[in-house]
Amino acid sequence: MVQIHQNEQQWITKDSQYIWHSMKPYNPDETLVVTEAKGCWVTDLTGKKYLDAMAGLWCVNVGYGREELAEAAYEQLKKLAYFPLTQSHIPAIQLGEKLNELLGDEYVIFFSNSGSEANETAFKIARQYHQQRGEHNRYKIISRYRAYHGNSMGALAATGQAQRKYKYEPLAPGFIHVPPPDSYRDNDQAENPRDLRSVKVIDDVMTWELSETIAAVIMEPIITGGGVLIPPEGYMKAVKEVCEKHGALLIVDEVICGFGRTGKPFGFMNYGVKPDIITMAKGITSAYLPLSATAVRKEIYEAFKGTEEYDYFRHVNTFGGHPAACALALKNIEIMERENLFARSREAGERLLNELKNKLQDHPYVGDVRGKGLLIGIELVADKDTKEPLDVSLVNKAIGICKENGLIIGKNGTTVAGYNNVLTLSPPLNIEDDDLSFLINTLTDALWKMK
Ligand code: PMP
Repeated sequence: MVQIHQNEQQWITKDSQYIWHSMKPYNPDETLVVTEAKGCWVTDLTGKKYLDAMAGLWCVNVGYGREELAEAAYEQLKKLAYFPLTQSHIPAIQLGEKLNELLGDEYVIFFSNSGSEANETAFKIARQYHQQRGEHNRYKIISRYRAYHGNSMGALAATGQAQRKYKYEPLAPGFIHVPPPDSYRDNDQAENPRDLRSVKVIDDVMTWELSETIAAVIMEPIITGGGVLIPPEGYMKAVKEVCEKHGALLIVDEVICGFGRTGKPFGFMNYGVKPDIITMAKGITSAYLPLSATAVRKEIYEAFKGTEEYDYFRHVNTFGGHPAACALALKNIEIMERENLFARSREAGERLLNELKNKLQDHPYVGDVRGKGLLIGIELVADKDTKEPLDVSLVNKAIGICKENGLIIGKNGTTVAGYNNVLTLSPPLNIEDDDLSFLINTLTDALWKMK
C-alpha cells in the first residue's frame, strides 16, 4: 500500500529518489512539489501559494481547477474509455469539426499526444505528400535557429538550439537551419517584406539546396522558447510566398502560440497567412490531459487517397485522439469562447506589456520588453549599448527573488548557445486584474532588487 507522508521533507527526499526531472540540473533542494492549484495559483507542500505566470509549461490556458473539465473527461471515460482512431469515435469527430471552425478553413486533423509527435507527424505528411505527387527528391525541412520543436529525434533535429542537441546526436537527417528575425538585435527592415534579410535567406537557401529537394519550412508564428521573438511586419506572409515559389509546404507550429496565447485563436492569424499544416498541443486541453493535433489542408490530404499499396499515411499512435482528451478539449474550447479568453489575452497582454515597459524602461539590465497577447519576453543585458546578454547567475537571482515572493516566471535562450537571458511570461488567459497587478509589481520589484 502507498504510504501517505505528511512531512514535507519526506516527499522531497522521495522525489529525488524516484523522479528524473525535465530540463533540470541535479539539485533536489530547489524542487517545488506542488499539491494543488486554482485559477493562476499553485500551492506547494508547505501551503505556500505562487502565481504561476508560466501556466505550467505555457499550457494551462484556462487556468487550474476547472471542475467542468474534469467532469467532461469523467463522463466520457464512463461512456467510452478508449477506441483507436484507426476507426473513429464521436469526441474526435466533434473536435475535428470544432478545430475547423476555429481555423476558419478546411483542414483534416490527425491526433497525437504531444507537440513533438504533432511535429513528427507533420514532417512525415510533408515528405509523403511530395512523394505522392511524384516529387521524389523533396525531403529537406527548413527550420530556424533558436526555435524549439520537440524532444524526439526528428523534432529535435528541427530544433535550432545547439545546447539541447549536444550529446544526443546524430539526430534525424534532412533538417536545415536559417537565422530567425530578431528585431531587438538586428536591424532587419525593408519596405517590401520579401526583401527582409531573414526572408531572403530562406529564399536563397532553397535555391542553393535545390528547390526540388525542399519539402517544407516549419516555424512558430512567434519563436517562444528561443526568447519570444516577434517577427517584423510582413515576415510570415513573405515566407509563405517564398515557400510557394519553391514548391515547399509551410508548417506552422502552434504548440505554444495556439489557443489564445497571442490574443487570437491561433498565432498565424495575426499575420494573414494560410498555413499548409498546423501543429498544436498544450492549450488544446489546457494541459488537463495529453493531446495534440496536426491539421492538414484538404488538398494535401487528397493526395493520400490513391489506391496503391503505399498511398495511405502509414502512421499510428495508440493514445492519439483519446476520447477523454477530445471530450475535455471540446469543453476547454467552449470555456475559451464563453469567457472570451482570446480577447482577454489581447487586453491583459497589452496592459502587461505597457506597464512592464513603463516600469522597467530605466532599468540598467532591461534591454527589451516585447510580446503579443499573454506571451511576453524581457531580455536582460549587461550593457544596453553592446546588448551583451546578462550573466545567467543574475537572471537566476531575479527568478529566485520572484519565487521567494510567490511568483513563478520562466527564462529562455537567445543568440548564443548557453545564454538564458530572456525572462518569459505566459500566464493563464483568464488572469484577473488583481493577479496581473501582483505579477507586475512582484516582477518589477525583483528586477530592481536584483542589481
Ligand atoms: N513545439 C513548441 C513550439 C514547443 O514549445 C514544444 C514544447 N515546449 C513542442 C513543440 C513540443 O511539445 P511537447 O513537449 O508536448 O512534445
